[in-house]
Amino acid sequence: MDVAQTIAQVRGAVAVARKKGSVIGLVPTMGALHQGHVSLIKAARADCGYVVVSIFVNPTQFGPGEDFDRYPRPIDQDLEVCRHEGVDLVFAPTIEEMYGEGTLTWVQVDRLTDTLCGRFRPGHFRGVTTVCTKLFNIVQPDRAYFGQKDAQQAVVIQRMVADLNMPLEIVVCPTIREPDGLAASSRNQYLTSDQRSQAPILYKALRRGQEVIEAGLRDPAKVVQQIRHVLDQAPDIRVQYISIVDPQTLEPVDRIVGKVLIAAAVYLGQTRLIDNILLDLDR
Ligand code: AMP
Repeated sequence: MDVAQTIAQVRGAVAVARKKGSVIGLVPTMGALHQGHVSLIKAARADCGYVVVSIFVNPTQFGPGEDFDRYPRPIDQDLEVCRHEGVDLVFAPTIEEMYGEGTLTWVQVDRLTDTLCGRFRPGHFRGVTTVCTKLFNIVQPDRAYFGQKDAQQAVVIQRMVADLNMPLEIVVCPTIREPDGLAASSRNQYLTSDQRSQAPILYKALRRGQEVIEAGLRDPAKVVQQIRHVLDQAPDIRVQYISIVDPQTLEPVDRIVGKVLIAAAVYLGQTRLIDNILLDLDR
């Protein structure tokens, strides 16, 4: 496995692989790799002759007062995970390598970024789309792998790639969960043991939403009420939002029909957790 810190090294290594005719797969991450990331790497490994994992805690997607400084950076452990999964190249650049003196150029997807997490994290998706564009330009992958766990991110990236005619395919992989249902996340390690024991209620609450919808409830406000009712049972959960939206436009729906995304963000202490369930009532 090669480890590159510079863009030039990445371009060189990928050029060799491409010359050999390999399909290039990219898994963008912020590191602190867990089973969710591993599932993306395995999907890339199954599809692609040459797999690149980027590990970069991207400063431009963190707002003031967010957890950029304390975000975990266990690089040796991450490299071991990548080696074990048969990754060909890890790109772990410095901030200076990625942004030099800073950037005057941003990639911004409108409207889709105003709802859900975007409402509460201004500038976040602009940072994500900008860094992903840079990574796509650096690696020039045929395919890039993202997780359904970050549903809005996946929709925004897909729209960016379509709107800007970027020559790659976006593959969205299912959410990987702990045995108790909590979605795997690098931020779970912030939780105290007491908070960790309350955390699975987020997925339980979303599942309650799914159940009442499957039982015939069609009024989104009533479904949200049911979800909130479950979350109220955990003493330390603070709800940021619970929304039922169209999975493509991310606009709230008036009535639940066809495909809907049930999405929520909560705080447990200082730690922000998100999760979602995608439902297709036509199936
Ligand atoms: P992050 O390192 O948190 O920026 O995540 C990197 C990629 O891994 C993103 O595409 C995430 O959606 C994906 N990811 C994170 N957690 C999970 C999970 N539990 N299941 C599946 N994919 C995930």
